[in-house]
Amino acid sequence: MNFLITGGAGFIGHHLANRLVALGEHVRVLDDLSAGDPASLDERVLFTRGDVRDAPKLWTLLHSIDCVYHLAAKVSVPQSVLYPRDYNDINVGGTVTLMEAMRAVGTRRVVLASSAAIYGDQKRQPVDEAVVPQLLTPYAVSKFAAEHYVFTLGAHYGVETVALRIFNAYGPGQALPPAYPPVVPQVIQQVVSGGTVVLFGNGRQTRDYVYIDDVVTALIEAGRRTGIDHQVINVGSGTEASVDQLVREVETVTGRNAHILRNEQQSGGVARLMADLDKAHSLLDYSPSTTLAQGLQRTITLDARFQRFLQPDRLPSGK
Ligand code: NAD
Repeated sequence: MNFLITGGAGFIGHHLANRLVALGEHVRVLDDLSAGDPASLDERVLFTRGDVRDAPKLWTLLHSIDCVYHLAAKVSVPQSVLYPRDYNDINVGGTVTLMEAMRAVGTRRVVLASSAAIYGDQKRQPVDEAVVPQLLTPYAVSKFAAEHYVFTLGAHYGVETVALRIFNAYGPGQALPPAYPPVVPQVIQQVVSGGTVVLFGNGRQTRDYVYIDDVVTALIEAGRRTGIDHQVINVGSGTEASVDQLVREVETVTGRNAHILRNEQQSGGVARLMADLDKAHSLLDYSPSTTLAQGLQRTITLDARFQRFLQPDRLPSGK
């Protein structure tokens, strides 16, 4: 099959692109490189630098594409509060432009990378796809709007649509921007480099950390399967870990002690988040196969940015 991945030079996108070409599929990537790095892509992937809001570029790239993975987005929750217009322009406007271009070219299917951020603070855990979202940030609003545009326009234009609500994905190659870095690589970086891990809130707030290989498996199934039109499907690990637990796991895997600074005033916002995976099991035959300890071990082993701090130390074996 022929795939186009928007935002395909980013963290999730490059893992997806590289797995697809390894499976013998043809993959094009469109990415403006505002965050991604094309050097992470397998040489068999055809890379084009450009903006997902550039309709003429999309018309060219969509030619003979069977399925689009729409990942291009701005992805920082706190940054979205500061720059909501950017999040609306790219995450919502980019999605509408893509759907119009798919109509123009006659592209058959789109898989949207949506986010568990739309659930907000839910009392009942694990959360399933039927709960009423709590849109607490512009990022969440933009992802929910993107889902609705994909489904609504898909129904009008005859495009098959599916949205995966991804929980906290982590793994090797995840960007570590100085402002608003994602929690897992930030904790690893601070622990291996001997820096200070700043923990917000009481440390007991939980998230569902899902290893990148499991996310990619779910995305690939969503691109292949029939009978899942118009569905939203959770993609997580189906487990929850507190920030304190995450730090302890990183300490165990690296054999290093964390220097922790607590900032209890500033809370992490959402108290608990864990995916109900019943729908993913039944529609995608999805069962995450990586525990947090295994995923952290692989992340640290496979990412040269962390390894350079650990050599010639050895990671504990048997993890
Ligand atoms: P990322 O920042 O690594 O990837 C996003 C990519 O989109 C980057 O390569 C960036 O350069 C590109 N991009 C941004 N604006 C663009 C534009 N206007 N035109 C073209 N390309 C553009 O983030 P990621 O973690 O890989 O996330 C990928 C997708 O998955 C996003 O849609 C995100 O909302 C979603 N998601 C991620 C997570 C997670 O935990 N990583 C969780 C839920 C949802």
